Amino acid sequence: MREFIRKLEHKDPGEKEFHHSVTRFLRSVEPVLDQPPEFDRYAILQRLVEPERTIIYQVPWMDDQGQVQVNRGYRVEMNSAVGPYKGGLRFHPDAGLSTFKLLAFEQVFTNSLTTMPLGGARGGSDFDPKGKSDDEVMRFCQSFMSELARHIGPDIDVPEGGLGVGLREIGFLFGAYKKQQNEFSGVITGKGLGWGGSQIRMQATGYGVAYFTAEMLAARGDSLEGKRCLISGSGNVALAAAEKIAQLGGRVLTLSDSGGHIFDPEGIDLDKLAFVRRLKHIRRGRIADYVEKYSEAEYTEADNADGYNPLWARPADCAFPCAMENEVNAADAVHLAGNNIRLVCEGADMPVSAEAFDILKEEKVPFAPGKAANAGGVAVSCLEMAQNRMLLNWTAEEVDQRLQKTMQNIHTQCRETALEFGEPDNYYLGANISAFQRVAQAMQDQGV
Ligand code: NDP
Repeated sequence: MREFIRKLEHKDPGEKEFHHSVTRFLRSVEPVLDQPPEFDRYAILQRLVEPERTIIYQVPWMDDQGQVQVNRGYRVEMNSAVGPYKGGLRFHPDAGLSTFKLLAFEQVFTNSLTTMPLGGARGGSDFDPKGKSDDEVMRFCQSFMSELARHIGPDIDVPEGGLGVGLREIGFLFGAYKKQQNEFSGVITGKGLGWGGSQIRMQATGYGVAYFTAEMLAARGDSLEGKRCLISGSGNVALAAAEKIAQLGGRVLTLSDSGGHIFDPEGIDLDKLAFVRRLKHIRRGRIADYVEKYSEAEYTEADNADGYNPLWARPADCAFPCAMENEVNAADAVHLAGNNIRLVCEGADMPVSAEAFDILKEEKVPFAPGKAANAGGVAVSCLEMAQNRMLLNWTAEEVDQRLQKTMQNIHTQCRETALEFGEPDNYYLGANISAFQRVAQAMQDQGV
C-alpha cells in the first residue's frame, strides 16, 4: 500500500488533496483488497485512481466593463463502471485539478452507494460568482459550456450544481448547451421545475442528510425530536438540512457563511429559515443580517486566530458541517467530543479533516461520511434523469418517498457492511467497503 501511494505522489506531485483522500480511502478498504485476488491482476486500484478522462480548458469571458477575463474550466471523468459519468460542478476561486480529482474520486463511491446506474465525475472552474452581476455570470457560463458541451450528454456525462453553482448558473449552462447542441435533454440536473427539473432536487442533499441522521438515531432507539443541532453553511445543502431537521423535531441552533456564524438559542424554525433563504439566495446577502431581524440571536465573525471555529464549540447533540472541505479541524473535533456530541453527520464533501476524523473515532463519536449522508442529491438527480427520459413529472411526495427509501438503503448497507467487518458503528468503513466492492466488481466484469 505504501509503495502504491508513493508512486501516486511521484506521478502527480502537486496533488496533495487528492493523495490524502486516496490514502484515507485505501486504508479503509484494505480488508477486502486481497479478496478476490483478481482485483490485483485487473489493476483495479491503479485504474480507480487514474481518471478515465480529464478535460482542462480556457474560459474567456467579458466583464461588465468590457474587459476580458480568463478562467480555467475542468471536468474530471473518473470512472464509468456502473453508469454514465455523473457529478456536480463547483465555481470557487480555490478550486483546481487536485480538488476536482479528489471530489470525482469520492463521487464514484457516493454514486455507487445509491445503487443507481451512475459513474463518477466532478468539475467546475476557479471562477468566483460572488460579487459578479447576473450578466457576468451568464457570459461566464456560456463560455464555460461552449467547450464542456462537446464532452457531455445524457448517456455520457451529466453534470449538476454544487458549491457556487445554483439554479441561476444551471439555467445559464443548460440554455447554452441547448442552443449549441440543438437538443433539449436531461444533460444537466438541478434544472428549474418549469423546464425539466425534478421536485425536491434542490432540497434533496440536505433532506437526505436529515433522513440519514434519523436512521442513525433510530438504530440507537432514538430520534431527532428535541435534539440541539449545529449546522454550518447557509447554502443549498445547509438550508435544506435545517428545514428537514426542524420538520423532524430537531432544534437548529446555528447557520454560517464565509463571514461568520449566527447562534439562535430559541432555534431557527421554518419561518426563520424562509427568511434566511430569501436573504442568501434572492438578496445574496450575508448571514450577519439575521441578527437585525431576530434580536434573540447573536453573530460571531469567522476568526480562526484561536485555531478553532467557535460554532463547533457550542454545546449540542448533533453536528452537521454543510459548507466546505476541511472546515472541522482537530481542535473543533476536541470541542465537539468534549461537549458529548452524539453524532457528526457530513453534509458537505469531506468537511471533517483527517485529524478531526481520527479524534472523533478515538472518542467513539458516531460519524456519517458525506459520501453516504449527502448522496440524496445525486440520487434525486438520477430520478430527474429518469423523468426526463420518460417525459414525466413525478409529484414531490413520490420523489421524497424514493429519496427516503434510498437513504434508508444506504444506511443499511453501511451498517451491515461495518458489522460484517467487525466494526458495527464505523459508517466510514461500511460506506467505503460496500461502495468499493460494487465498483470493483463492475470493472472486473467488463474486462480491460
Ligand atoms: P452553496 O454554494 O449553496 O453554499 C455553500 C455555503 O458554504 C455558503 O453558505 C457559503 O457561504 C459557505 N462557505 C463557503 N466558503 C466558506 C468558508 N470558507 N467558511 C465557511 N463557510 C463557507 O453550496 P452547497 O450548499 O451546494 O454545497 C455545500 C457543500 O456540499 C460543498 O462541499 C458541496 O461540494 C457539497 N455537496 C453539495 C451537493 C448539492 O446538491 N448542492 C451535493 C453533494 C455535496 P458564502 O455565502 O459566504 O459563500
